[in-house]
Amino acid sequence: MRRRVIGIISLVILSLTMLLLAILLGSKRHPQLAGFETPGADVQPPRVLQVSMTSPLSKQCALKPVVKRPGTKTPYIRIDASQVTLSRFRQPSPEPPETLSETARSYTPREVIALADASNFGDRYFLDASGKPALLNPIVVLHETVGSATSALNLFRTYHPYDDDQVSYHTLIGRDGTVFYVVPPDKRAYGAGNSVFSGNSGTEAVRTNPQMPPSVNNFAYHISLETPADGNNNRSTHSGYTFEQYQSLAWLVAKTGIPDDRVTTHRQVDRSRSRMDPRSFDTAWFISLLNTFPRTNEIDLRCLPPTDGVS
Ligand SMILES: [Zn+2]
Repeated sequence: MRRRVIGIISLVILSLTMLLLAILLGSKRHPQLAGFETPGADVQPPRVLQVSMTSPLSKQCALKPVVKRPGTKTPYIRIDASQVTLSRFRQPSPEPPETLSETARSYTPREVIALADASNFGDRYFLDASGKPALLNPIVVLHETVGSATSALNLFRTYHPYDDDQVSYHTLIGRDGTVFYVVPPDKRAYGAGNSVFSGNSGTEAVRTNPQMPPSVNNFAYHISLETPADGNNNRSTHSGYTFEQYQSLAWLVAKTGIPDDRVTTHRQVDRSRSRMDPRSFDTAWFISLLNTFPRTNEIDLRCLPPTDGVS
C-alpha cells in the first residue's frame, strides 16, 4: 500500500516536471530573430473585427483619403504570409555593368521579409484630401530605431487599431547590415507625421487628413538604421552605425533610383522639431558610398492608378 502511494507521488512529480520542461522549452522555441524569417509566424492574431475584401498587398493606389471619425478602429486584416515574396519589395537585380568596382558588383546583404501588420501601413493616395494630385516625386527619409531592431520589428507586427499608435518604416537595417523589408515600397508607411520636405522647387507635403497636419508619407520611402546600444536614450549623439549598415543603406538607396538631393532625414523633414534621427550619421561618407553603386529602379515606389473614379 505504502509502496503504491510512493509510486503514485513519484509519477505525479515526474509528470509535473515534464510539463514544466515542456513549457520552458516551448517559450525558447523562437529565439529573438528567428520569427522574422517567416512573416507572421510568431504573431498571435487578434480577433478579426471585420473582414475586408481589399488586399493590403494590392499594388494599386487608393483614389483619395477617406476620413474616419476620431477613435474609429482600423479593422484587423489577416495577411496570407505565404503569398509574400522578396519580389514584393524589390525586383531582381540586373547584371551589373563591368565598369563597377568589385565591391559594388558583388555586395549582397542578407535580406529578410518582416512584413508589418496591415494596420501599420496603408495605400498611397492618388489625390489628397482636397482632390489635388498627391503622388509627388519620391524621397528617401532616413531614421534610426533608438531601441533594438527586434523590438522595432515586433512593434510593426503588432495590430494597432487606433491611428495614433500606427507606425512603420519600409525597411530597417540591422547592425550586421541585414535588410529587413517591413512595408512594400508602393505602400504608404507611417514614418513621419507632421513633416515637410524642402526641395529645389520649394516645400513639399501632402495633407491626407483635414484634421491632421500634412506629411511626406505619401511620397516617402522610409529607411531606419538600428541604433547602437549606447544610443538607447534621448542624448543628441551616440557611437554611430556600422560599416555594414552604411554599405547596405547605400546598396538599398541606389535601388530606389532616387537622386542624392531627394535623400533626407527625419530630423530635416520634422516640423515638430522633436526628432533628431538619425543621430551621429555621416552624410558625406554615405553619399560617397551611395555613388559607388549603380542607380536602378528595382525598388519602385509607384503604385498603379486606382481603377475607380479616375477620368
Ligand atoms: Zn524617425
